[in-house]
Amino acid sequence: MILALETSCDETAVALFDPARGLAGEWTHTQIALHARHGGVVPDLATREHLRHLAPLLERARASSGNFSAVTRVAVTHGPGLAGCLALGVAAAKALALALRVPLTGVNHLRGHAFSPFIPLHAESPDDFSVRLATLLPHLGLLVSGGNTLLFSLDENLALRVLATTRDDAAGEALDKGAKLLGLGYPGGPLIEKLATGGRPDAYDFPRGLGPRAELDFSFSGLKTSLRYQLEKMAPAEIAARTSDLCASYQQAVIDALARKTFFALERPSTDSGQAAYRSLGLSGGVANNRPLRAALGKIARAARVPLLAAAPEHTGDNAAMIAFAAWACPEPSCGADPASSELIRAAVVTPSPAGLRIAPALTLV
Ligand code: ADP
Ligand code: MG
Repeated sequence: MILALETSCDETAVALFDPARGLAGEWTHTQIALHARHGGVVPDLATREHLRHLAPLLERARASSGNFSAVTRVAVTHGPGLAGCLALGVAAAKALALALRVPLTGVNHLRGHAFSPFIPLHAESPDDFSVRLATLLPHLGLLVSGGNTLLFSLDENLALRVLATTRDDAAGEALDKGAKLLGLGYPGGPLIEKLATGGRPDAYDFPRGLGPRAELDFSFSGLKTSLRYQLEKMAPAEIAARTSDLCASYQQAVIDALARKTFFALERPSTDSGQAAYRSLGLSGGVANNRPLRAALGKIARAARVPLLAAAPEHTGDNAAMIAFAAWACPEPSCGADPASSELIRAAVVTPSPAGLRIAPALTLV
């Protein structure tokens, strides 16, 4: 049984994962309502909230699991994220690992997201998981969250290679900033999705930031600027009357950019030298909650005749289940250690002594 802790940003989360059976339980406290009052995450408030909620969540996990007697490993998010929040989670995880006399695994938050689409596959039948996983590799993944937008590949050995990132804003950030410009509140993605339902996606022509076909990197800052210029041309009453159209068009621009780049990546062989085509497409991160985005990626996957594996809605945002799962599915330092790949997603660090685990330097990228 793996006990996992996630405190990288604005969710305090604890999960228990049994590789032979699946998720044994998860306990999450979200701070969204607190930060919404300030229009975004306030790091100091986030750290204090983790401090307040982590112990009670751990207590509930302990009570449900016979005093953690079956725990054989502790896993913790060690970056990237807010420095104070990460330090608190890592310190708690170290203490738990020392007390339970089990090893500690540091998991990169993005690696957790990257593996989250495979959690349902494992849940369906834990015994066959590795056999079924092998039929889905090489895998192309789209990871879309508030802080990151990545296309990455997982090869037959689960080595992870980052193929594209964003040059400026992440997809979720573009939605959050767009919502702010529209005066809608935080987080913006779900609010834009809701208001977009009644609107026309072709009402306004916002830029897609696509660049040449060979270029897989994303760019969303032009989109946000274009919305600002559009709003400056409109009277407040007109903005209010056209909010649904604005949301639908803005959301469509984000989805089109994500879908087109994903399609370009899927068309290519999975390695620079080899011919192997991708055998599955994954979707993860908070923005993966967006239903029109799921539908758009579903269409691309069907066209390429590969299955779409989307993270379950409860595992799209920050959660500890994905941290436990990634610690188990890809536990070796060699797994994913492709030197050509970006530093953004690092191999999980397995340390023989809990005292040896350091917070990943990636946290300075906050
Ligand atoms: P991070 O950990 O980087 O903050 P998360 O994985 O927690 O990111 O995801 C949060 C992001 O997901 C926010 O930008 C939010 O607006 C976006 N998001 C959440 N739900 C939706 C949705 N239904 N549609 C679009 N974006 C969404
Ligand atoms: Mg988050």
